[in-house]
Amino acid sequence: MENRCLWCNEITDKEDLIEMDISFIFAGKYYVHSSHYSSSFKYFNNFKKYKLFLPILMLFSLLFFMLEDEKIGVVLNLVSMSIIIHMFPYGTRQTIVSFGVRKTIKIFKSISLLLLLLSLFFLYSFYYKG
Ligand SMILES: [Zn+2]
Repeated sequence: MENRCLWCNEITDKEDLIEMDISFIFAGKYYVHSSHYSSSFKYFNNFKKYKLFLPILMLFSLLFFMLEDEKIGVVLNLVSMSIIIHMFPYGTRQTIVSFGVRKTIKIFKSISLLLLLLSLFFLYSFYYKG
């Protein structure tokens, strides 16, 4: 068993790590640097607190596809997906264990930014083309 910090993904001496109970989301034993404990706890706790909103937000986002103007529907859908991913930068257990929480957040926030840029690109190509 590796002595790896779940937040920064660094392998460290066991004495520098403290156990974190996130059994409400992932089974198993996880360890973090004490300096990374509060950020990690907040990250997982936010998921616990707000996960009910996730399907509602997703559904809301899909409603944009029903707009009469399909083009603006696509743009709004991308924008809302971008916001949802920004708010919920949670991968699977596999993503978090392989990359660590810190990198997982970076990956998902980058995806969110790309979606936002894509939506701006679509907006531009749909409405401002010569
Ligand atoms: Zn750490």
